Amino acid sequence: MTIHWADVIAQRLEKSGPHTIATGITPSGPVHIGNMREVMTADAVYRALLDRGVEARLIYIADTFDRLRRLYPFLPQSFQEHIGKPLSEIPCPTGCCKSYADHFLTPFLESMERLDIKPEVYRADQLYREGVYLDAIKTALQKRDEIARILREVSGRDVPEAWSPFDAICQCCGRTNTTRLLGFDLEKETVDYECQCGCRGTASMRGEGKLVWRVDWPARWPIFKITVEPFGKDHATAGGSYDTGKRISEEIYGYPAPYPIVYEWIHLKGVGAMHSSTGIVITIQEMLEVVPPEVLRYLIIRNKPEKHIEFDPAMPLINLVDEYDQRKGDPRSMELSSIGHETPFEVPFRHMVTAVQIGRGDDILILKALDRSGYDISRRQEILSRARNVLVWLERYAPGFVKFQLREDLPAAVKNLSGEERRGMGLLAERLEGKGAQEIHDQVYAVAEELALAPKKFFQAIYLAFLGDRQGPKVGWFLASLDRDFVKERLMEASGAE
Ligand SMILES: [Zn+2]
Ligand SMILES: [Zn+2]
Repeated sequence: MTIHWADVIAQRLEKSGPHTIATGITPSGPVHIGNMREVMTADAVYRALLDRGVEARLIYIADTFDRLRRLYPFLPQSFQEHIGKPLSEIPCPTGCCKSYADHFLTPFLESMERLDIKPEVYRADQLYREGVYLDAIKTALQKRDEIARILREVSGRDVPEAWSPFDAICQCCGRTNTTRLLGFDLEKETVDYECQCGCRGTASMRGEGKLVWRVDWPARWPIFKITVEPFGKDHATAGGSYDTGKRISEEIYGYPAPYPIVYEWIHLKGVGAMHSSTGIVITIQEMLEVVPPEVLRYLIIRNKPEKHIEFDPAMPLINLVDEYDQRKGDPRSMELSSIGHETPFEVPFRHMVTAVQIGRGDDILILKALDRSGYDISRRQEILSRARNVLVWLERYAPGFVKFQLREDLPAAVKNLSGEERRGMGLLAERLEGKGAQEIHDQVYAVAEELALAPKKFFQAIYLAFLGDRQGPKVGWFLASLDRDFVKERLMEASGAE
């Protein structure tokens, strides 16, 4: 048996504990399931460490002090003026919360909670204001030349004369990308700067400026004693920010770089890699409207981080839900995905799709349809929550062939069926008494055989009589879900249609 990737990592780290696993996501746009891979990967390793009895912490640093890089497609044109300002200092794009950062951070934190991921949460803007970075900032300013040399050597890129590891926030225009450092005072804990807007000023090292990303990242490693960190492959390229971070951490801050876990992107089938900046995303909240949280965890945790995930929200998503519910997947992945609902959900998603359409979204009718086809409906709340998932899935992602509508009257096209097909429906009507879904299914085959009809043809005839279509859900379970008298009447009517 192969060992789960999270256990392989945990095994490697076991002896060097205790561990602090860090994650960090910039709330610059809707947080999507691609970003979720970061926290999910961290959470899987965290759980695997705890399972081995290793002391471990999971932390999440929200990069709320990063600047807005450009006008993303989901932003109003008026946000042009905020480019270059820290996300925590920009207003909410829709006016519903305290800041831009909050607008995207709040739903992400809620989603983590639903996914049973419980890190200690830190906000970068607060950490800076509280002076947590103070020593790191002073060291970076003093060792500016050494850091510049590392950046040049490792990234192979030129570092401009005016480069500084610390960007002041301009007190006039609020930007961090337009200021140039003129000097610093370690005693007063301030920097002097000038800005392209024409301002000159003095900024505090406590919250009036920020270390540049390539220094900020390694600076937080010793601050939080971080020993493990997953990050996207963009940071893992040769000469990229992990490579420079590793040397800055070791040579400037005297701290070993954390154990790296590089993860691949999640591609949206037929569209491409998910990025907030392009707007190609399915957000976590959207996903959680369709799949139960443990299945969303399972989607990510069952794949090795270095493997890219092709995500298809149409039929493959349904198969994934059923694989998890029926405990047919990799047992350790399922264990690491579990969020405490230990008894499996019984009704296959596919059948829920049938029941919801028969019940036309009405709770009582859906439960009745499930009861008729022999499912236990005592877990009412869970069933209705799944039913809501199904409604959203049907609306957004379902392929046309799974959608159907029960016809109120016998479709006229039934009269074009052959005499044998119609006779078959009459025979079937007489044999439904007291039968369950599987028995009805068997009976459909039996009737087809008696009348020398191809089963497929006979199925099509039945679908036509009920749905006005040549296709439909698994026939025995479909007929069993409907009111029995209605089914009998409709079959009789179809058999007599001229
Ligand atoms: Zn808002
Ligand atoms: Zn300015």
